[in-house]
Amino acid sequence: MEYRFIKWFEELRKEDVPLVGGKGANLGEMTNAGIPVPPGFCVTAEAYKYFVENVRVEDGRTLQEWIMDIISKTNVDDSKQLQENTAKIREKIISLEMPEEIAKEIEQAYKELSQRFGKDEVYVAVRSSATAEDLPEASFAGQQETFLDVLGADDVKDKVKRCWASLWTARATFYRAKQGFDHSKVYLSAVVQKMVNSETSGVMFTANPVTNDRNEIMINASWGLGEAVVSGAVTPDEYIVEKGTWKIKEKFIAKKEIMIVRNPETGKGTVKVPVAEYLGPEYVEKQVLTDEQIIEVAKMGAKIEEHYGWPQDIEWAYDKDDGKLYIVQSRPITTLKEAESAATEAAETEEAEVILKGLGASPGIGAGRVVVIFDASEIDKVKEGDVLVTTMTNPDMVPAMKRASAIVTDEGGRTSHAAIVSRELGIPAVVGTKEATKKLKTGDYVTVDGTRGVVYKGIVKSLVEKKEEAAAGAAGGQVVVAGAPLITATKVKVNVSMPEVAERAAATGADGVGLLRAEHMILSIGQHPVKFIKEGKEEELVEKLAEGIRTVAAAFYPRPVWYRTLDAPTNEFKEMPGGEDEPDERNPMLGWRGIRRSLDQPELLKAEFKAIKKVVEEGYNNIGVMLPLVGHPEQIRKAKKIALEVGLVPHKDVEWGVMIEVPAAALIIEELIKEGIDFISFGTNDLTQYTLAIDRDNDRIAYLYDETHPAVLKLIKHVIKVCKKHGVETSICGQAGSDPKMAKILVRLGIDSISANPDAVELIRKVVAQEEQKIIFEAARKKLFGEEDELEF
Ligand code: PEP
Ligand code: MG
Repeated sequence: MEYRFIKWFEELRKEDVPLVGGKGANLGEMTNAGIPVPPGFCVTAEAYKYFVENVRVEDGRTLQEWIMDIISKTNVDDSKQLQENTAKIREKIISLEMPEEIAKEIEQAYKELSQRFGKDEVYVAVRSSATAEDLPEASFAGQQETFLDVLGADDVKDKVKRCWASLWTARATFYRAKQGFDHSKVYLSAVVQKMVNSETSGVMFTANPVTNDRNEIMINASWGLGEAVVSGAVTPDEYIVEKGTWKIKEKFIAKKEIMIVRNPETGKGTVKVPVAEYLGPEYVEKQVLTDEQIIEVAKMGAKIEEHYGWPQDIEWAYDKDDGKLYIVQSRPITTLKEAESAATEAAETEEAEVILKGLGASPGIGAGRVVVIFDASEIDKVKEGDVLVTTMTNPDMVPAMKRASAIVTDEGGRTSHAAIVSRELGIPAVVGTKEATKKLKTGDYVTVDGTRGVVYKGIVKSLVEKKEEAAAGAAGGQVVVAGAPLITATKVKVNVSMPEVAERAAATGADGVGLLRAEHMILSIGQHPVKFIKEGKEEELVEKLAEGIRTVAAAFYPRPVWYRTLDAPTNEFKEMPGGEDEPDERNPMLGWRGIRRSLDQPELLKAEFKAIKKVVEEGYNNIGVMLPLVGHPEQIRKAKKIALEVGLVPHKDVEWGVMIEVPAAALIIEELIKEGIDFISFGTNDLTQYTLAIDRDNDRIAYLYDETHPAVLKLIKHVIKVCKKHGVETSICGQAGSDPKMAKILVRLGIDSISANPDAVELIRKVVAQEEQKIIFEAARKKLFGEEDELEF
């Protein structure tokens, strides 16, 4: 049949935009370049033109005249009027009969397309492809009408009309009006394309996105529709093919539990089904593509890359209906790095305990505290520098991903959401570990190697250091001229939890450690500490603690290091081996923790004091002891007594201080001072929760959690004032110390030091310096001009 309104993809080239729009022209170009896009045809812009110019409305005018009349009477800035009038036009287009000449051609072309697959009717997608002379398609934002799973000629004709109608959405009409386009010269083509009935599908990168090796093609493959791979719902097979020799260098056969297929009941939309049931249990661990297919896909990838002159990220599928390979989408890879620097990272190895393996999805080393989340509603739990562990990321998790030092997932391949986003963010990631959320617990510390796909237990110092060296090297060996170091009157200290990071924390130039947490050191012995002591291994515990304290004291010497005695709640202890005897508390936050517990179990406190004494005797006179959760003066007295029992002398061997975490402590600060303390430090995490009655771990009420609540600030202000009067040093070590807003307030309140997280030290130092300058400046101005600003213009 000689067509007037139909053009097959084979007949089109990229120059044909005026006739079939950008989308249609591009499909034609690819078809002719030998890229097997799913076949189809375009209902050209001529058809739309013929339709509006020949079909008449009730009063005898052509549809085009009728439309232009309405448009000329529409004020596009009146959005109600715009909505109503454009809706009227769209309804009219859909309700009018398509001229027989066009309808016949569509029916015939659809039949031909179906016959290519040996069928009477095939599923197609119908998409709009806008066009206007000399206007790029991008100018028609909003006209992306796409109808999937269209079946039968009548449905196709209906959807073509609906595409035509999409030329008159309120948004598109407004846009054209504002851009000064002539509404009467804008036409629209509809693309009708075979929907791939995927037997197998996946993604391919024509350069290895992990190692950046351009000689390798990486293919991910899974059963059914490609959505499963792209969304990360399934961990796909992975094959690496060498370009040129077409050797399959690596094969990773994944366990593919689920697949996505067209809904077998409705024929429309898609559903997730278990592979074992839908295809049979043998398919779960079966290689998805045959070796011949792997090579066919790889060669097609190379061809597309050559066509576009740049490595591509391609979606492909094998169609059940004809068994052929189709290319559904191709985009340039935008995240490719130079292969060399990635190779240097890949070369690093270190003996360390491997706890998980998966696919290295985003190169680099990341280390930190694990936070396991299962849902985007939990993302607030992930703090700066944490390692995010989850089943699979989704777009709602991106804010948390940005804060993470590394990402580890159970599911997904190197092309899943987690992999793509983390590569773009430059954050190391390991995906498809199958059991990260089971094996890792919030609060664990791990090192993530995103290049090799390995997760190590703890912070592997050598790996982390090498990462830093590499970062320094990346500056290109240039001489970096630093500004003069900022000297602030308010000291800026740093919080340390792991002795392993002491060197790094000290390198920030912080004025000391305002909080050395004991929990990590104690919990890292791997067994309940009380059990440890009961088994007669106190000496071992003391040695282990001394080692950690010494490491930090040495890294900072002579700067002060305040060691805080153990403050782990019973629920944390319970999870440790030997933690079975921990009491079940109704509310562990209000329970047996901090100094209360230490005084009930003095054997543990004694072990801590013995460790400190050991380090002091080695000449470290820069250590302070800080007691958590103090609320009663006698707690200070009792703790001192226990210290003396092991020969550690408060105020002489070590400075002695308390945390202000309980409102009671703030309110009776004078009484606490009378017991004899050298310093206090605000634990605002707890002070806020206890002042506002908000469990700091309860997401539901987290929005009410505010460290700058006037009640909290009032307590802080009172304590600083009283401490100043008595010559007691004041500090803060809660999370709020890393918040610039709080830092400014504290500087104004006259706090002596602020202890921030390692990554916040530099920022807080700047903020503190600025605020101090401002105070001096304001005072000087006041002196010169009095209260009023005397400047006159
Ligand atoms: C605090 O409560 O602010 C604090 C620093 O201690 P932790 O977070 O360990 O309770
Ligand atoms: Mg606390």
